[in-house]
Amino acid sequence: MSPNARSAWFRTLGQLLLVLALGLAAGLLLGQPWPALTAAALGVVAWHYWRLRGVLLRLTARQRLAPPSGEGVWNELDRLLYRSQAEMRTRKRRLLAMLRAYRAAAAALPDAIVVVDRDTQRVLWFNEAATPLLGLHYPRHQGAALVAALRPLPLAQWLAAGRNAEPLTDVASPVDPGMRLNLRLIPYSEELWLLVARDVTRTMRLEHMRRDFVANVSHELRTPLTVIHGYLEMLDPDDKPDWAPMLAEMQRQSQRMNQLVEDLLTLSRLEAQDHLPEEHVAMGPMLATLRREAEALSQGRHRISAVDEVGLDLLGSNKELHSAFSNLVSNAIRYTPAGGEIVIRFAREPEGCASLSVRDTGYGIPAAHLPRITERFYRVSNSRSRESGGTGLGLAIVKHVLGLHHARLEIASEVGKGSVFACRFGPERLLPRDSRHADASAA
Ligand code: ADP
Repeated sequence: MSPNARSAWFRTLGQLLLVLALGLAAGLLLGQPWPALTAAALGVVAWHYWRLRGVLLRLTARQRLAPPSGEGVWNELDRLLYRSQAEMRTRKRRLLAMLRAYRAAAAALPDAIVVVDRDTQRVLWFNEAATPLLGLHYPRHQGAALVAALRPLPLAQWLAAGRNAEPLTDVASPVDPGMRLNLRLIPYSEELWLLVARDVTRTMRLEHMRRDFVANVSHELRTPLTVIHGYLEMLDPDDKPDWAPMLAEMQRQSQRMNQLVEDLLTLSRLEAQDHLPEEHVAMGPMLATLRREAEALSQGRHRISAVDEVGLDLLGSNKELHSAFSNLVSNAIRYTPAGGEIVIRFAREPEGCASLSVRDTGYGIPAAHLPRITERFYRVSNSRSRESGGTGLGLAIVKHVLGLHHARLEIASEVGKGSVFACRFGPERLLPRDSRHADASAA
């Protein structure tokens, strides 16, 4: 018999004796012992009934009633109770072990992980990697304000964006400016955020090497190409009529190589920058220029129009925005057969945004290609791109320019119907139209 069962029997026996004694005393006082004895015995039975009912309810809720062992119902119930308590203790131990294992796993991660209270923006917990990567130490930084703890990282605005915060890429670690970090904010419950910092120093170094290599090669190729191109220009096909087709092809190819080198240099230059000049970009003259360029490229083969529905200007780099927009216009002309229509539109968008879009009625792009279309040298059709004089770098340049303006490229396309490439600018990029700038740009 278990110790619990034994003490329950003793308790019950004690209560019965007490009832008997009380009943006898009451009977002696009243001269009639049996009614008092019966009432006391019924009281004991009722008390035990309620106790038994409580135990049964608990056990039924758990659906764990074991087959009776023949030692009596009290014994059985006590055994079950004892077992469920032991089970609870085992489960608690197992949960604690799991919790410790999760903590150990988080601590062993090479990325820094910081749990942040969303309302107070204070540090609740961080793993071991947060010390070498972010300079957080126990107990000093537990409960500290995150922005102050990670100064000089520019986190105030980033945290304010909350759920919509874009990852911060290639920022200097507060511990060592030579260490480069990528930061991500993951809201994982109503109250808690997870800040994940990854050391990308090595990746960034390799990326810089790749960038420098491409820029150096392109730069080195520029001079010999200019010389070859110059000599080819000097050759007159009329002097050697047999060579005329060859000469024309050589000129076309050297022109293509020149364009390739120029585009690669443009990309390298854009990649090396983290911001561009903030100028007043007059959109009236910009639309007029784009339309003129489109007409020159099309040479009357397309219907072209430019519409301004915004009446505002943009804040950004005149030169780079013009280069991005004219890339889109040139694509629209090159990938739209004669007779098609091109519409350049500056329109208002929800949430105070505005977009410069180029719509064509050309070949369109199959949906499967859209996710990769802005990668350098990615083409839907190699032959069509080459025939039309493309380098495969145009959309990569557009994406970079827009990224530097915190703007987005949105693409919608249907095969056989045409495409819309829209550059979407946030409200912070919109400026009231200023006639002085319009005049200056037109001049
Ligand atoms: P490319 O110099 O080859 O035009 P881009 O980077 O400008 O390079 O464009 C990448 C690819 O996207 C193109 O090769 C083409 O297949 C496709 N593309 C771009 N713009 C359009 C468009 N307006 N209509 C159809 N396809 C397009």
